[in-house]
Amino acid sequence: MCRAPVGEGAKRTRIGSEELAKVLIGAHVSTGGGLVNALRRGEERACEAIQIFNQSPRMWRPTRYSENDFAAFREAYAHSKIESVVIHAIYLINPAGADRSMRRKSLETLTHALWVGAGIGAEGVVVHPGALKASSRADALKRAVKFICEALAATEGCDLLIENNAGSKQLLGLGFDEIAELIERCGGGPRLGLCIDSCHLHAASFDVRTPEGVAAIADEIEARLGRQRLRYLHLNDSRDQRGALRDRHADIGKGEIGRAGFRAFLSEPRWQKLPAVLETPGPGGHGPDRKQVQLTRRLWREGVKARSK
Ligand SMILES: [Zn+2]
Ligand SMILES: [Zn+2]
Repeated sequence: MCRAPVGEGAKRTRIGSEELAKVLIGAHVSTGGGLVNALRRGEERACEAIQIFNQSPRMWRPTRYSENDFAAFREAYAHSKIESVVIHAIYLINPAGADRSMRRKSLETLTHALWVGAGIGAEGVVVHPGALKASSRADALKRAVKFICEALAATEGCDLLIENNAGSKQLLGLGFDEIAELIERCGGGPRLGLCIDSCHLHAASFDVRTPEGVAAIADEIEARLGRQRLRYLHLNDSRDQRGALRDRHADIGKGEIGRAGFRAFLSEPRWQKLPAVLETPGPGGHGPDRKQVQLTRRLWREGVKARSK
């Protein structure tokens, strides 16, 4: 399925490579008008990392890209200030779903995202582990395992990053147990990684607002999944109280996590070198802007400074 050689076009050898001792801060940006425009939008927003959708996130219709589109992107990426590109798979995909036609569409769509990811030299495709619907957790997990295995087998050259969930008890992956089990039962290969979202952690009762709380999260990830699995951070403030199981993003510093919380979250020593993108509403609901990215970078710097005292 995938024709791009492994790693071709990837800017960094892999996520978390040794030479970078800072969090690479950026934002989710639009690919409107063509893939290459995402790089320009990232630069306009002072991003070091960008995340994009490979197709319209609320429709099944895939965007048809050609090898020329991929080549043009890789060329522009190589000459840009952006150091990391990741794709977010569309929200309609449910790896744990039971409905056969939905599963087929989900698999085709995720496979397409991985193919685009390999083509443009993305470091991974982020996907949510899925929703139970009417079934038991065990059955849902079993289906998610099968689904992820099939998506990996159908592609090569792009990693799959499983994101921790929030928003309802009906979702898989609210904590790290199910994600660890999912990765293990899918063979535990190097193409499987973890993406954590600050708002989702907060919604699922984790303490993301103090250095001690964040260290406990990092400890748990190390114990359950191993440190190397954590590849990506989503930075979102939360409109809701800790443990509320609601997934409503707020602009950085404007929600329950707050500026002090992000200083603590971003400065966890084990998370330096990782890319981290904002998926916040931004002014007028148009997504994170340059000011938000710069504020986040400032909070990172202040957090690191406070810890070194
Ligand atoms: Zn997220
Ligand atoms: Zn979310």
